[in-house]
Amino acid sequence: MAHDPGTSTAYAVSPDSGEHWTAEGAWEVSPGVHRVPLPLPMDGLRAVNVYVVENDDGLTLVDGGWSIEVARDLLQRCLRSIGHDFRDIRRFLVTHVHRDHYTLARVLGAEVGAEVALGRDEQPALELLNNVHELTRSPFIEVLESAGAHDVAAQWVRLDADGDLPDAAMWAYPDTWLEGDQQLEVGSRTLDAVHTPGHTPGHFVFAERAAGLLFAGDHVLPTITPSIGFTVPPTPQPLGDFMASLTKVRALPDLRVLPAHGPVGMSSHERVDQLLAFHGGRLDQTLAAVLGGARTGHDAAQHLGWTRHEKAFPTLDVFSQGMAAMETKAHLDLLAAQGRVTRTRDPDGSFRYAPPVPD
Ligand SMILES: [Zn+2]
Repeated sequence: MAHDPGTSTAYAVSPDSGEHWTAEGAWEVSPGVHRVPLPLPMDGLRAVNVYVVENDDGLTLVDGGWSIEVARDLLQRCLRSIGHDFRDIRRFLVTHVHRDHYTLARVLGAEVGAEVALGRDEQPALELLNNVHELTRSPFIEVLESAGAHDVAAQWVRLDADGDLPDAAMWAYPDTWLEGDQQLEVGSRTLDAVHTPGHTPGHFVFAERAAGLLFAGDHVLPTITPSIGFTVPPTPQPLGDFMASLTKVRALPDLRVLPAHGPVGMSSHERVDQLLAFHGGRLDQTLAAVLGGARTGHDAAQHLGWTRHEKAFPTLDVFSQGMAAMETKAHLDLLAAQGRVTRTRDPDGSFRYAPPVPD
């Protein structure tokens, strides 16, 4: 959840615009590739970058933004400013299922007949969203309880009680499921679609080697780290998956990162190295918390600093506390897989971790 491994906020100026990365416009980042930041009201991330790739056959958009009026209108204006319209869109390549990436792609794709492609491993999340009426409680509750965050879970239930049901048009299934790494012919361009599970199970990045570009979604972000362990249904090793996916991207050539949130242009190798080092350090701190007596994700989260300001856990809002507990549990589960802690499950559903017993 949005820790900062040391990059400064001055880096928020994006070199394509010369302005803060959220500034409105269609900013050319490479010949035929424009970045269009769309607003995310009430979201700490502030905006999501949609990338518009021009081709002989029309436009390919990487991610679509959140399906809200203000974002849709802005995307329309920005496409017009570069001589295009919604009707020119041929396809959406969506990096992952989160609402700020998927929903406007799905809605516009249906309207204009553009293909929407999404990673196959996002299907369980879409199935949940399309069958919410069958659930008796939020699927996040079980994940929070597994992290020992029962109090937080009880507060989430109350927040949830006045939540709206998901909009079916926004969460309809994609036209194409991306399965495994593959080359995509996008007009005259070739993109390597690379499966990068971690932030979500079906996350993909798209590398255009010829142009030296990495459409990175939320996998490689320049100033924050993506949330880990905040997915339903849960997967066994989200942090292990994320670090393996970082290593996979590190094996690609060094590319310019085009992130979904933040300014463009950072070296993919440099940033991946920072992210791996950050989580390596975080694993050590989490282990130290267990050695100091913490036994659950929720316990251990109290021993760590949160957000770029290293805030103490009790000062976080209840939503962030839940994310912090789940993310800490993801670190504990990787430590358990590495044999650095032991793991058992309590009757109340929470996992408990302890220092390994010396033999
Ligand atoms: Zn995102």
